[in-house]
Amino acid sequence: MIDRLTLFADVILPVPIHRSFTYRIPFELNNDIQVGCRVIVPFGKSKMQTAIVLNIHQNIPLTYQSKYIEAILDHTPIVTDKQLQFWHWISRYYMSPIGDVMNAALPSHLKLASETKFEIHPDFDEKNSQLDDREAEIVDYLEHKEVCDLKEITDLLALKTIQPIIKKLIEKRVLISREEIKRRYSPKTVLCYKLVPQFQIEHNLNVFIEELELSKKNSKQVDAIMAFLKHKLDNEEYLPIQKSYLVSKEVSSSALITLEKKGVIEAERYQIDRINNEKKQSNSFKALSNPQTKALTELNESMESNNVTLLHGVTGSGKTEIYVQIIQDHLDQGHQVLFLLPEIALTTQLIQRLSAYFGEKIGVYHSKFNQNERVEIWNKVLTNDPNEFRIILGARSSIFLPYQSLGLIIVDEEHEGSFKQYDPSPRYNARDASIVLAHMHQAKVILGTATPSMESYYNAKQGKFGLVELNERYKGLKLPEVMFSDLKRERRLKNMNSHFSNFLLEEMDQVLKKGEQVILFQNRRGYTPLWSCEICNWTPKCNNCDVSLTYHKHANHLKCHYCGFTANPVGSCPSCGSTRLNMIGFGTEKIEDELSLIFQDKIIKRLDLDTTRAKNAYEEILNDFDNGFIDILIGTQMVTKGLDFDNVYLVGILDADMLLNRPDFRAYERSYQLMSQVSGRAGRLGKQGRVIIQTGDPDHWVIQLVAEHNYQKFYENEIIERKNFNYPPFYKVISLMVKHKNINLVELASKELATNLKEIFKERVIGPEFPIIQKIKNYYLKEIKLKIERTAPEKKVKEKLNERLELFYQQVEFKSVKVVIDVDPL
Ligand code: ADP
Ligand code: ZN
Ligand code: ZN
Repeated sequence: MIDRLTLFADVILPVPIHRSFTYRIPFELNNDIQVGCRVIVPFGKSKMQTAIVLNIHQNIPLTYQSKYIEAILDHTPIVTDKQLQFWHWISRYYMSPIGDVMNAALPSHLKLASETKFEIHPDFDEKNSQLDDREAEIVDYLEHKEVCDLKEITDLLALKTIQPIIKKLIEKRVLISREEIKRRYSPKTVLCYKLVPQFQIEHNLNVFIEELELSKKNSKQVDAIMAFLKHKLDNEEYLPIQKSYLVSKEVSSSALITLEKKGVIEAERYQIDRINNEKKQSNSFKALSNPQTKALTELNESMESNNVTLLHGVTGSGKTEIYVQIIQDHLDQGHQVLFLLPEIALTTQLIQRLSAYFGEKIGVYHSKFNQNERVEIWNKVLTNDPNEFRIILGARSSIFLPYQSLGLIIVDEEHEGSFKQYDPSPRYNARDASIVLAHMHQAKVILGTATPSMESYYNAKQGKFGLVELNERYKGLKLPEVMFSDLKRERRLKNMNSHFSNFLLEEMDQVLKKGEQVILFQNRRGYTPLWSCEICNWTPKCNNCDVSLTYHKHANHLKCHYCGFTANPVGSCPSCGSTRLNMIGFGTEKIEDELSLIFQDKIIKRLDLDTTRAKNAYEEILNDFDNGFIDILIGTQMVTKGLDFDNVYLVGILDADMLLNRPDFRAYERSYQLMSQVSGRAGRLGKQGRVIIQTGDPDHWVIQLVAEHNYQKFYENEIIERKNFNYPPFYKVISLMVKHKNINLVELASKELATNLKEIFKERVIGPEFPIIQKIKNYYLKEIKLKIERTAPEKKVKEKLNERLELFYQQVEFKSVKVVIDVDPL
């Protein structure tokens, strides 16, 4: 009889520890417990934790007295065997504690720990809710207690499996977790227009229209007002109208702006229901062009024999429409599809395009989402719901969903660094991990990009991945013409106006005069990166980090971009007393400031971390740009990401040298990618765009190849460097960052660890060396790098490394030293 057997469960706890823990299963739970279910267990001093059952067995732990499992939270597993296998792979490969992987993988609502507090949902209405006895008991309890935790509810009901009850109450909006209240999303808004009350009066409006009609050039404004009147007729009252709706009815944006200035209409933002709005139902697919059809055929062929295929298609070649066809094939076969994007916030356009085709079948998933929604998606993916969430569009964490029938993973913009998580651990790369995930599901992977990472292109060239190339833009549109401003020459000839060459300014002027738009790219935010004393070279530094402070003019302070430390600007040099402080370099804020003096009648906006902190700020700026409300958009790398605008004809890259001169082996690869990607925003709708690169070195080979749009050649040059200097893809790098507040201890510990590692890894150990930034948030850093041949047995390398770390930590004096391990750092 199973219910009389003494059973134990190994469980994973969401704590940064490398092993699992064993608990005794109470007899009465013997029949209910299953691998992949959550259980509540005591952990530490009188604390309860949610854990995942990994394994059930009869082996009595010999070294310690195991505690009892308190309760089971699920009737059926919420984590699949494949997921557990995947978690273990991530934990092993990226050398992260399995508990960290669990933490990254599970939405926090599934990790209801003892600390999670519940209260009655503000929308709860007792009269209209049907509660059973137990549910009512919880509600009664909460009505006088106001908040309680899971343990209290367990005690209250004297039940071992309370989670299903809690879950139901959360779903019925009877209970809500404290955390959720704090995190409620701020709703998305849309820009609407309405007639001001004065002009809703027929007589006033008629008088105004008559005036307008006196001049022919006002006809667009008249059309706009007619659209408002038509809308009123249809709806029988004046309602605010979405701007996008008006524009779709051929109302001109500039007429709306003029009418707003004249005080006839007013703009206001209204909330819309976030998800529903994005799920308009299916449009029909676009017919593919010949080159697209050819690429599609090649992709399908490649996928027959390769697990992974790289789709290298230039910017604007129409990769999305190709994905759409392949996704549909997989949906027809009953597969789930994962579409990985570098950053959800930056890809609203893509979400809208795909939603137009797949409607309800799409679920968007990422870590900043509302927790209830994340749990809902988790459950629908787990139960393999045939109608909803067949396609998951998500940022890196969506590789952790409980897929049941995954058939295809698309990694769009596969070269993007944001697929790699740096903090917190696990430091995984979702692109690479997704290949492992696909393998477990026997699913196919497509990596898509205009500028492949060196690793992926190498793999494709080696025949490890399939390769499909699409070298022309949709409709044969030409890639932009790239020109240079030679900064050395322009400076000599006094052809510069602050940071802008006259050539760039003249080109901008011409484009703007035609009513077309400009994007300027400078990969540095703030005003100036550096203040420096002309006499003694003093620069203001952060108190906590070894970096110079960046001046932000708007906030009028000096700020550290690593820890957020701020200081007041200084009037004189604290070191020598001189007042001759120079500003060196320039960031997006300074460009905005200076351009607003040069192009006074143009609307200039900035897209960077500082202007997009508010919840929907990013979308609003992009929408405004898309709708022609902005003439010049200045941005950091945010402007390079997958945007598709119709009216941009000029892109300016203000400081190419800053990109190229970074002390990092990926500097050229990054420079090529960023410059090509931002250039790709120029010219759409049948007209070739133009790019102007400002540089002191126009003959630099990377810049030349950007201008030629010659990725192939770039790859061939760069791969030789990588080979000569033992870098990826030929070698795999593992970085070990030794951290402590005491610099002497960091020196000592890193030396010891390096010596220790050299015994095994020999000349593959590089360092210890100070990284470029030696101190961050008061921690001193020293880095040891391992460079391991890609052909080396990966598992064994990690095992040996772990052994050595174990030895290192056995030395008492190093117990407080932190070693941050980063496998395949970017
Ligand atoms: P990529 O992702 O390769 O840069 P996109 O998929 O964004 O390119 O396509 C570029 C533009 O061309 C988009 O505006 C898209 O709507 C349009 N486009 C691509 N393929 C087609 C097609 N077959 N029919 C109509 N428009 C297309
Ligand atoms: Zn000085
Ligand atoms: Zn700092």
